[in-house]
Amino acid sequence: MDISYILNELGEERDDYFRAIAPPIMQTSNFAFSKVDDLRKAFEDEYSTWLYSRGLNPTVDILRKKLAALDGAEDCLVFNSGAAAIFAAVLANVKSGDHIVSVKNPYAWAQKMFDVILPRFNVNVTYVDGTITDNFSKAIQSNTTIIYLESPNSWFYELQDLAAVAILAKQHNIITICDNSYCSPIFQQPILMGVDLVLQSATKYIGGHSDTIAGVLSGSNTMIKKIFESEYMNIGSGIQPFNAWLLIRGLRTLPARLERITRTTAEVISFLKNHPRVEQVIFPLDPSFPQYELAKQQMTGACGLVTFIIKTNSSKTIETFCESLKHILMAVSWGGYESLILPKCAGMRPETFNANDPGHRSLRLYAGLEEPAYLTADLSLAFNAIQHLP
Ligand SMILES: *Cc1c(COP(=O)(O)O)cnc(C)c1O
Repeated sequence: MDISYILNELGEERDDYFRAIAPPIMQTSNFAFSKVDDLRKAFEDEYSTWLYSRGLNPTVDILRKKLAALDGAEDCLVFNSGAAAIFAAVLANVKSGDHIVSVKNPYAWAQKMFDVILPRFNVNVTYVDGTITDNFSKAIQSNTTIIYLESPNSWFYELQDLAAVAILAKQHNIITICDNSYCSPIFQQPILMGVDLVLQSATKYIGGHSDTIAGVLSGSNTMIKKIFESEYMNIGSGIQPFNAWLLIRGLRTLPARLERITRTTAEVISFLKNHPRVEQVIFPLDPSFPQYELAKQQMTGACGLVTFIIKTNSSKTIETFCESLKHILMAVSWGGYESLILPKCAGMRPETFNANDPGHRSLRLYAGLEEPAYLTADLSLAFNAIQHLP
């Protein structure tokens, strides 16, 4: 399907709302019926009609059609957060006694679900280094029902060979779930590589303006309908119509934003690589990246997020660097219009900082929509501030 058609037209029945260009926000909790038989049918199959907005809603449905098409999927559900999409996807595919194989260091709240919540229900997880496909096959047990993937990871960008893992999983009747937040469907479509369920935090590139939290889960009609009828309706964490409308608006400019950010990121990377205080720059589509070949094979782009390692023996130097930036904001998340910095050392107690571990000296930079020179000047300023620090 043509991407311009998906973003500008798909799902938009303008004759139904006065030919308005922008779709209406159907801010309603419930829908009225004139025939008892129609109401009965709605009770029997809530996935077929508008009954109550915890289920389906017309504004959300416009968004769902576009997001499913972007993922190359038959269907999708949109949640009130990426974390809710993860929770529903996993919960729908395990029962007590089951086992999950997950890539190591998944998104923090996926990890929390695996480590804290699921063990209470006798579901256990084995973490593997996903850069080697064979590690997945070694970790599979007779009770494994899910292989959980995140490619690339959003700190050090380790990839998994998605097509190979999907084939392996199918041989064992295991469901594959992949967190695709880093690439967004513009740069990677795991469904087309055989992955069963794909999720992303729509808070990032889809929303694109740092004003909405949301998550998308895509897959086959059968799997998505099953999740709708149980986890989605039961957890009650579907997206609200106004937030869905914001995401539709974000989608209009998604390819243009990513194009711009891709160019800016390249300039920022070249600046960082040439700076004497930078030990290493980590970016999946950089020729120096260990899995560069795989990245080129399964991703058509990689933008915005780049990690660099500063030469220093003190976390204080990293703190000074971050606090000296005038325009790049220190914050979590990414995918919005504004550039961000996140130092790894903020996630650890100062006394546990180990300068011999390059990971501890890493900073994640997100390049937003500013002029590239504006960003490199800001970085220069911060590097100058640590010039004489150890
Ligand atoms: C942000 C993020 C999530 C969670 O999404 P929320 O919208 O914040 O709930 C999941 N995975 C990755 C890789 C993320 O970056």
